[in-house]
Amino acid sequence: MTTMIEYSKIEVQIDLAAVQHNYRELAKAGSRLIAVVKSDAYGHGLAQVSSALEEIGADTFAVGYVHEAHQLRESGCGGRIVSLLGPVDSGDMARLGKGDVIPFIGHFDTMRALADQCPEPVDIALKFDTGMSRLGFRKEELPELLDFLHAHPRLRPVMASSHLAASDEPERDELTRSQQELFFELVDAVRGAGFAVEANLSNSAAIMGHEACRLDAQRAGIALYGGNPFQGTSREELGEGLRPAMSVTAPVLHVHTLRKGQGISYGHTYVSDSDRTVAVVGAGYADCYSRGLSNRGFMNAGGVRIPILGRVCMQMTCVDVSGLAGQGVDLHVGDRVHLLGGDGPGRVDIHELAAWWGTITYEALCALGMNRRVFVK
Ligand SMILES: *Cc1c(COP(=O)(O)O)cnc(C)c1O
Repeated sequence: MTTMIEYSKIEVQIDLAAVQHNYRELAKAGSRLIAVVKSDAYGHGLAQVSSALEEIGADTFAVGYVHEAHQLRESGCGGRIVSLLGPVDSGDMARLGKGDVIPFIGHFDTMRALADQCPEPVDIALKFDTGMSRLGFRKEELPELLDFLHAHPRLRPVMASSHLAASDEPERDELTRSQQELFFELVDAVRGAGFAVEANLSNSAAIMGHEACRLDAQRAGIALYGGNPFQGTSREELGEGLRPAMSVTAPVLHVHTLRKGQGISYGHTYVSDSDRTVAVVGAGYADCYSRGLSNRGFMNAGGVRIPILGRVCMQMTCVDVSGLAGQGVDLHVGDRVHLLGGDGPGRVDIHELAAWWGTITYEALCALGMNRRVFVK
């Protein structure tokens, strides 16, 4: 009789205690921390991350769309919720009418629509463009903005924000400084016009490396999840206290020998120069494990680093496990290997994974976080 080996598919583990640890690290900077939990908390779970942070004192959360704010409120969040993108449709406008989400408003058309459609007073955050050239009121629009606000007292500006374009690049400090100076000037003008806004400018990199940008509050995203925005720069050591919160495992589906001269996977982009042992792992680009990792990335089996051979497929990836036996690691069908994280010298760090992938930590985390998750604390 044969027995079927059973295993579960690719699985993402989220360490909520690590997120709490990172929050406390960042909070040492002193001012109020706004936890940025947009895009499902960078793949780490909107409700779970927010509730873990609320437990340790976080009182303000920033999502992207208004519908994410709605989701967060429904999950039981009792804190302030800010929508960084503001309303994009009439459903959002109606939702804002309830008055318990603070939308970023950076353009006159949205502001007019909100003034027309919300019968009750609504708190808003004024979003300024100080150099990102994306969303936000520009300096030259300030007089018209202040006039509009004076004429529409139902819109209550309680916050003023702007976003930094290159705070994670030490060689671009000049750009950060110019954004900071312009923002301070804008905040002064808004306050001078009688609006007592809570000002925030810093993202993770600025919280860690640009004290001059510190105002009433700071918006922390990637660093909450253990990503060091300064990785690979002269300020890398500023991120040393952060802990990674996501790890990813997938099962070994099959183990076989690849003979010298044989090619592997689509296109035979890898041809073996000797006899090797290959493990086929049950994760591929359909699981958001990028095809860009083909012949470039590594996994971690029992603490030992194993290289990807050939192209990453839709639901499978082949790795070279020839070296494992020599290091005392016995790998069998059904065992799980780490695509991200794990222990030992083979530990796969999110910064390395992103580099092999050809992207940034943010994208790799958001993508992998689409998979089935389990939460530990
Ligand atoms: C995403 C985002 C942040 C967080 O940035 P990190 O680099 O992840 O800390 C802060 N502010 C705004 C407006 C954002 O969109």
